[in-house]
Amino acid sequence: MKSSEEIEARVERLHAGGLVDMHFDLPMDLYEKRNQLGFLVSHYLPEFEAGDIGVVGAALYIEDRYLPEMGLRVALDQVARLYTEVEAADRFEICKTNKEITRARKASQIALLITMEGVEPLGDDLNLLQVFYQLGVRMIGLTHARSNAAGSGGIFAASGSSSDGLTAFGREVVQECERLSIIIDLAHINPKGFEEIADLTKRPLIVSHTNARKFYDVERNISDEQIKIIGQRGGVVGVNAILVSPNAENATSDRYVDHIEHVINLIGIDHVGIGFDFCEYLFQQLPEDIRNEIQSKLTTPHFIPDLTNHSHARNFTRKLIERGFSDADIEKILRGNWLRIFEQLL
Ligand SMILES: [Zn+2]
Repeated sequence: MKSSEEIEARVERLHAGGLVDMHFDLPMDLYEKRNQLGFLVSHYLPEFEAGDIGVVGAALYIEDRYLPEMGLRVALDQVARLYTEVEAADRFEICKTNKEITRARKASQIALLITMEGVEPLGDDLNLLQVFYQLGVRMIGLTHARSNAAGSGGIFAASGSSSDGLTAFGREVVQECERLSIIIDLAHINPKGFEEIADLTKRPLIVSHTNARKFYDVERNISDEQIKIIGQRGGVVGVNAILVSPNAENATSDRYVDHIEHVINLIGIDHVGIGFDFCEYLFQQLPEDIRNEIQSKLTTPHFIPDLTNHSHARNFTRKLIERGFSDADIEKILRGNWLRIFEQLL
C-alpha cells in the first residue's frame, strides 16, 4: 500500500499536463448570469484550477423555454458572453485550432473549445453553420434528447426513441461539418441517427459525453456495438459522470471508473476520455417547476457525491490510481486521447 503522500505526488505529476473535459454547459450558465460580470473568474476559475483543467468543451445549449423563436438569439448571446468573460480574464483562451490549443496549454492557459449540443440555433438554415464556425464552434452534436430539424435524440428509456434517422437537413449538416472540419459529436443522437452518421463520414468518430448501456440501459447512452464502432473508427468515448447508474446508491466514482474500464475492455485504452458533464450546480439552481419538468421528461440524475464539479477532478485521478491504472494509461484518459483527436480533426 502506497502512502498517501506518494499518491498525492503521483496525482500532482499526472495533472501537470492538464485535464481535457469535452462537455461542460458553461456558456449557458454565463448567459443566465449575464448580470454578474466576471462570473467565469469568480466562480468557475477556482474550480478549474483546483482540478487542473486544461481544455474544456464549452457547449452551447438552448433550453426548451427559448425554442423555437429565441434559439438563434440565445446561442449568439451565449457565444458573446463567453467572449466577453474570457476577455476580462487572463487565464482563458477560446481556441479554434489544434495549434491554438497547444499554445494555450504551453502558456498554462485554460483552452475553451466552443461546441454545440443540438443544432436548434441553426433552425433549418445551413448557412448559419458557417457563421457559428467563424465564431469558433468546432464540435457539433446534432441533437439533444428532443427532435429537431436535423434528427432525433436517444430518449432516457431502454427503448422507444424515434426509429427515423437523420433528416435531409441533418445529412447536409453532417457533410458541411466534415467539409469545415467541425468535429461531429455522437452524444445524444438516437441509435438510427448514430448508424447513419457513421455511414456518412470517414474521419474518427467521437462521443463527447455518454455512458455505457451495460450499466445504465437507456437509449441516450451507447451500446457495446456502438462503442465498438467508435473504436474501429479510431475515435474516443468521453465518459459522463451523470448517468453512471439508475440507482442513487450505485452512482459512485467506482462505478464511473467501471464505465471507463468497460470501454477499455471493448476497444482499448486509446479510445476513452472524459466528458464529465458536471451539472449538479446548474440543475439545483433551476426553478423547481423546470426541475420537475426535466425529471418527468428526461430522468432523475444521480450525481456522484465526490465528483460533482471540476474541483473534484483529483478524486477521480486518485480513484484511477487505486484501481491500478498505470501512469501512461491515466494520462491517456485524462487528456492524451482527446489531444490526439484535436490533432487529427482540428
Ligand atoms: Zn448532454
